[in-house]
Amino acid sequence: MELIIGSHVSYKKEEQMLGCVKEALSYGANTFMFYTGAPQNTVRAEIKCEKTKEALALMQEKGMELKNVIIHAPYIINLANPKTSEFAVNFLRQEMERVEKLGITKLVLHPGSHVDVSREEGIKNIIKGLNKVIDKTTKVTILLETMAGKGTECGTTFVELKQIIDGVNYNDKVGVCLDTCHIHDAGYDLSQMDEILAQFDKIIGLSKLQCIHINDSKNERSSHKDRHENIGYGCIGFENLLSILYHEKLVHVPKILETPYVDKEYPPYKFEIEEVKNKKRNDNLYEDIRNFYK
Ligand SMILES: [Zn+2]
Repeated sequence: MELIIGSHVSYKKEEQMLGCVKEALSYGANTFMFYTGAPQNTVRAEIKCEKTKEALALMQEKGMELKNVIIHAPYIINLANPKTSEFAVNFLRQEMERVEKLGITKLVLHPGSHVDVSREEGIKNIIKGLNKVIDKTTKVTILLETMAGKGTECGTTFVELKQIIDGVNYNDKVGVCLDTCHIHDAGYDLSQMDEILAQFDKIIGLSKLQCIHINDSKNERSSHKDRHENIGYGCIGFENLLSILYHEKLVHVPKILETPYVDKEYPPYKFEIEEVKNKKRNDNLYEDIRNFYK
């Protein structure tokens, strides 16, 4: 089976999902992930059905499958803190409606930061919030993302994520998105991928792992920083990232790049996807990208 690989792409008011598909194709991707609007605010454009139809037709023509497409929930949603949880529940509910309207089934969500309440309390609030938005009619699967442990983030270990999943009544609609930069920053050693996956399987169950964010990290293991780096240019390294990209147990899982733009201007994804497909690090990555977009 072919590697399922894509990147973060932008969703614009006019072209909507059609624009996402076109951008993904320009990178040589066979899937993609997007925010339905700016992640830091609540402004959302009405979804245009005709654009969705055009997007789906283009995807079919190019062999892209909707089940591999990911939406990332806005990161202003924080279910963990009681001061923000009501807003978070309402906005998450609206986001899930938009996801369903687009026919997409996977929504990545940061579990939340507990801020000024205890971690235990934070986890309880996340569970409470998820139980308000997920019922037996829910079609979308919420993928809780593994977090780096920056500030007071919850969901930094597989055990914590399992605790959340166990508290949700309809938890067949809850899965996990594993972010390589985040787990590295949280303390997992990515040179031991078999060991990590064995742990994940034992604690959560591998069938729950439904999306992987592929990012290198600017910082050393256990730094709790969450700063993404381009593939092969950070502290995780190219070989370790390949070991998860091509892991035999993860063949069916969509892999999404969220690596930084070069010079804050040029998307690296076309070149990184090429590197990954060739299984060879591009030692000239930054120059190649600048030359291509200049
Ligand atoms: Zn995320």
